[in-house]
Amino acid sequence: MCGIVAYIGKKEVCPIIISGLKRLEYRGYDSSGIALAGNNTKAKVYKKKGKVSALENIIENKDTSGTIGIGHTRWATHGIPNDINAHPHTSMNGKFIVIHNGIIENYARLKRKLIDRGYKFESDTDTEVLTNLIEYIYLKGKVSAEMAVRLALSKVVGAYGIVVICTDETDKLIAARKGSPLVIGIGKDEHFIASDATPIIEHTNSVIYLNNDNIAIIKRSELTLKTIGNEELTPRIEQLTLEIDKIEKMVMTILCSKKYLSNPALF
Ligand code: GLU
Repeated sequence: MCGIVAYIGKKEVCPIIISGLKRLEYRGYDSSGIALAGNNTKAKVYKKKGKVSALENIIENKDTSGTIGIGHTRWATHGIPNDINAHPHTSMNGKFIVIHNGIIENYARLKRKLIDRGYKFESDTDTEVLTNLIEYIYLKGKVSAEMAVRLALSKVVGAYGIVVICTDETDKLIAARKGSPLVIGIGKDEHFIASDATPIIEHTNSVIYLNNDNIAIIKRSELTLKTIGNEELTPRIEQLTLEIDKIEKMVMTILCSKKYLSNPALF
């Protein structure tokens, strides 16, 4: 089971994402990647097959500046584990960068339609199809990034936890969930997003769990929660009670259990 970590705030994002991805390693994965934006810098995407340490090696001498970022550990379902199929995925015209947990069941049909409309694909993933679908709707419909994401998700059958960067609107992250869990951590002038609370708890105890069919528009100091159908919701903020050392112990117990070792995908 793969992992998602994202951040928007004032701090340099790269170390936050890398340490968050390491906290999610216990879930199992085959490749990892990161996208960095904000701070008036051009968006950058780095991804690599293998461990998070392999990703760390390739970014060592690269530009990793940015105060908004998304990171992913992939458990391949569509397309073999390699650098190209690793997330994040960037849309053909570079407007959207997406990380995704889950499976888009009707990706083949959507992909054919996008190819008919001139889209070209680099990877074999269902995620790149969703990424290009969001961009197609954004450019063709001349709508906001948020609306493009909501409209694209209304055409998707399957399960997803996604976090989206729009390179025209780098004051926000857009997160949505159906099936695959997502948690948002609320800090002071910063927000964290992750597939579980382990990467968040060292930064804040205040969290919002996204429900199915929820979409969150997350700015540095502002969060709007809606349904995919555009109905505004009141976020329910909960306090995490687990401490980091207890979580680490739990993770070690899981890692040492026979069930996990024999098939990490079960977890
Ligand atoms: N279906 C996507 C892929 O194969 C996401 C897999 C995952 O949840 O890591 O890239």
